[in-house]
Amino acid sequence: MGEYKLDMHIHSVSSGHAYSTVTENARYANDIGMEAIGITDHAPMMPGSCGYLHFLNMKILPDYIEGIRVYKGIELNILDTSGRTDKSITKGILRRLDYAIASLHIPCIEPLSLEENTAALCNAMENEFVKIIGHPGDPRYPINTEQVVASAKSTGTLLELNNASFNPSNSRKGGEEITIEMLKECKRQNVSVILGSDAHYHTYIGDFSYCKPLLDAADFPEELIVNRSMDAWQKLIFG
Ligand SMILES: [Zn+2]
Ligand SMILES: [Zn+2]
Repeated sequence: MGEYKLDMHIHSVSSGHAYSTVTENARYANDIGMEAIGITDHAPMMPGSCGYLHFLNMKILPDYIEGIRVYKGIELNILDTSGRTDKSITKGILRRLDYAIASLHIPCIEPLSLEENTAALCNAMENEFVKIIGHPGDPRYPINTEQVVASAKSTGTLLELNNASFNPSNSRKGGEEITIEMLKECKRQNVSVILGSDAHYHTYIGDFSYCKPLLDAADFPEELIVNRSMDAWQKLIFG
């Protein structure tokens, strides 16, 4: 088991193309010694995912399941360059959740120019409920890393190092170079990142093995990795 005990990007069966329940995810995470996880199913614009009621009702889940702290989240789909996300997920719903990830996904927004992709991410970060930008190093959506990192700094948003993206079988493959560039920029601007497994099956939870060589390549400082402590994470989402 690795040294990081928090994983805030995990999908359940409710996403439609993921295969473990909330309970299975929690049990596995507890078994491998994690301290906390976040369930972040895809927002409704992702084909096959659940509707808004899933997120509206998430508050019924206990804070601790199978002995581990479970945060309630969502992975929103960024829909355009103004950074708008799934319409059916209102502020009222987002307020009931602990946090939101916002990401660019092919079924929801086609790759645009570098300037437009950058604007989409930067504007999404202006949404007060968005605490994490999911897989910003997707090579299909080129971005200006200096601007994205500056927006992350000014809005207090975390940029994610998405472990699943660097699995050679993933559709986002080839993002290593841009991610190392982004990490160096984070280091330069003193901006924190979060490691996320993006698990779609419970055995991927807490696996950040593909992130490690990238962190090493950027000589990335440990204190800028939010997964190192519950305090750093809680401060981010609860202020
Ligand atoms: Zn997914
Ligand atoms: Zn995603």
